[in-house]
Amino acid sequence: PISVSQSSIHFSAMEKIELVIIVAPLMGHLTQSLELAKLLLQRNYHLSFTVLVMKAPFDPEGTAKIQSLIASCNIDRLHFHDLPTPEDTSQWSCPHRGGFIEQLIDFQKLHIRETVSKIKGFSGIIVDMINTTMIDVADDFGVPSYVFFTSGAAFLGLLLHFQTLEDEQNQQVSDFVRSETELVVPSFANPVAIRVLPVLTTRKEAWYGRFLKSTREYRKAKGIIVNTFADLESDAIRSFSLKSKYGRSELPSIFPVGPILNRSQTQSINDHSEMMNWLDSQPGNSVVFLCFGSMGSFHFDQVKEIANGLEKSGYRFLWVLRQPPAKNGDFTVDLEDHGLFLPNGFLDRTASIGKVVGWVPQLAVLSHPAVGGFVSHCGWNSTLESIWCGVPMATWPLHGEQQLNAFQVVKELGIGVDICMDYFEAKQDQVIVRAEQIEKGIRELMDGENEIRKMVKEFSEKSRLAVEKGGSSYLSLEKIVENLD
Ligand code: UDP
Ligand code: UDP
Repeated sequence: PISVSQSSIHFSAMEKIELVIIVAPLMGHLTQSLELAKLLLQRNYHLSFTVLVMKAPFDPEGTAKIQSLIASCNIDRLHFHDLPTPEDTSQWSCPHRGGFIEQLIDFQKLHIRETVSKIKGFSGIIVDMINTTMIDVADDFGVPSYVFFTSGAAFLGLLLHFQTLEDEQNQQVSDFVRSETELVVPSFANPVAIRVLPVLTTRKEAWYGRFLKSTREYRKAKGIIVNTFADLESDAIRSFSLKSKYGRSELPSIFPVGPILNRSQTQSINDHSEMMNWLDSQPGNSVVFLCFGSMGSFHFDQVKEIANGLEKSGYRFLWVLRQPPAKNGDFTVDLEDHGLFLPNGFLDRTASIGKVVGWVPQLAVLSHPAVGGFVSHCGWNSTLESIWCGVPMATWPLHGEQQLNAFQVVKELGIGVDICMDYFEAKQDQVIVRAEQIEKGIRELMDGENEIRKMVKEFSEKSRLAVEKGGSSYLSLEKIVENLD
């Protein structure tokens, strides 16, 4: 049944619990939030959701994707309501996409307050991890709020730890990270090397401008829903229940409900049938898959080194190559003519063993038996998808908290090899990761039945058990539903 309503909020008298989901205009966050909503809807028939949709005026491509995602989402008891798009943003200072989105969220606060006041039976909100200022709105209406943390529990622990040091121990995070080489963080089993700290916690303006504030707000929520599972991040999850690990005040309940994967790729698979057929004709575990998320791109000189490294390794490959932004702040687009940026003759020489493409349905690719290894930027979704599919990783983080995820993959979980852990810094210093280093990483990744392959298979089984009936994530979701009743 279709009950999608984009222009008006709509509900029926039967519905008892009306939750509002507020998500920043980022496709990854929106897709995950919708998957979470679907899971909760399956568990409780009294529940319904209204998703308040924000669109970023500066990103028409992203807005189009959001619209098509919503149009394809015909789910009973899941409604959409468009928030107004700001008409004039010329006065907004927006050096980064993150800063712009923050201003957009502030702009929407008033509209959200007005909208939820009209929703009959409004009983709570779920906000994504960067939208936490909306927790105030829930407080004003006296309803509970939940944060959906779309990254890992170890990273959540790191943020809470840093916030505790700032607020209770009078330590300036940005100062002490410069004086240490390693840190003991309660959510990690091993000391964390300073060099892998996410740039958002070391960059003063990002930490003090946004992340410290959001982390303080996480504490005001009734619960934090995390896209992870107990067996994957056992140390992190245990640390949340240990007294005083994160300061004097108690933490909200933590609900590990993952892996929540983006399964709405069916259409996308049909659009990529040639590539999927090509995979069908490759031997098992023979193809190395390279993909750096929705935004990851490299400078042309770096692209050439990757091509040379791949070619020297001799492995079959599927490489998702995206065009670098034309100038700062522009968005990465799919690359149409790859030949322009690759070494002379590369495509001809590798035609029988490899493919360079602009976008793939990644979960389907990772699920394919021909794929034997994943060179990844370690976005949290990509990491979970690789684990789910039992594919070992070679880590090449680019930004955000990806360096920390890569550290987890290699050092904490033992399911990956390191190609370049601190590329962000390397890039600042104009250092290029050379073909030899890339070739070495690919060989380590792909060579036979190694330890990392065994380990990732184990985690893959555990990830599937976690979401099955009676599994840890299944039960965690049940607890949220009980909390809502
Ligand atoms: N997507 C797509 N084609 C594209 C870009 C994105 O189909 O060219 C879809 C895809 O389903 C993917 C999702 O968008 O899972 C993730 O979007 P994105 O990664 O852009 O979100 P963000 O990284 O900004 O959170
Ligand atoms: N993705 C995809 N095809 C691509 C690139 C990305 O389907 O060619 C999907 C990928 O499966 C994942 C999401 O986009 O679900 C990327 O999320 P992640 O957290 O890994 O990285 P981000 O894009 O946020 O940097």
